[in-house]
Amino acid sequence: MMKKDMIYEGKAKKVFKTDDSKRYIVGYKDDATAFNGEKKGTIVGKGIINNKMSALVFKLLEGRGIPTHFIDILNDREMMVKAVEILPLEVIVRNVAAGSLAKRLGIDEGTEMKEPVLEFCYKNDDLGDPMINEYHIKAIDLATEEQIQLIKRYSLKINEILKRFFIERNIKLVDFKLEFGTHDGEVILADEVSPDTCRLWDADTNKKLDKDRFRRDLGDVEEAYNEVLGRILF
Ligand code: UDP
Repeated sequence: MMKKDMIYEGKAKKVFKTDDSKRYIVGYKDDATAFNGEKKGTIVGKGIINNKMSALVFKLLEGRGIPTHFIDILNDREMMVKAVEILPLEVIVRNVAAGSLAKRLGIDEGTEMKEPVLEFCYKNDDLGDPMINEYHIKAIDLATEEQIQLIKRYSLKINEILKRFFIERNIKLVDFKLEFGTHDGEVILADEVSPDTCRLWDADTNKKLDKDRFRRDLGDVEEAYNEVLGRILF
């Protein structure tokens, strides 16, 4: 498979065309941004960790019946994926209050949700990814009713699979963000699943093992990413 032109460069990843129009190559970078690009930095080795972790999670999910864009890992920083058109939605699933939910609802970080909370945001950097609901999604034509229902079903199932997967590794899955795309008309999970996109807390100490260490200047950022990868590779 030949790597061809880069078609997209985001904050943490690059996407390349290949000689097969149905496949892309995703390359994971060490660059980190937060607060809609206001804070910039580098997390050394992050690209390698996020590539490995995402590959492992996508394989786990595929085995449990969730269709994903993952095809194969190519090297330390790159994976082969199915070419998708990303739906301009961020799907957030929450088990424990943190971040914007804690702030918005005035709930202490760390408070358990009685049941998983699902949120949608409109993926639009200029607008700062505003939260929207299913009515907005249909009214401005971001996805169809059928796609929304499928995305909700997949997201809640992914949450059940990943909650259990992480707790077996003594990690609490606090919340995470998913992105879906369409490939041959089918909705499949795309983007990445990594400490950049999940809040992961040590189950005993609640130590943050994710990008909040970068966002909030908590230190030991690289160590935290390595700790997560170490625990999931065991
Ligand atoms: N998240 C993400 N990308 C975004 C926004 C959020 O990966 O653009 C993830 C974030 O890492 C966390 C979850 O989604 O695991 C919920 O984030 P929240 O809404 O609390 O936003 P934040 O506090 O990060 O601004």
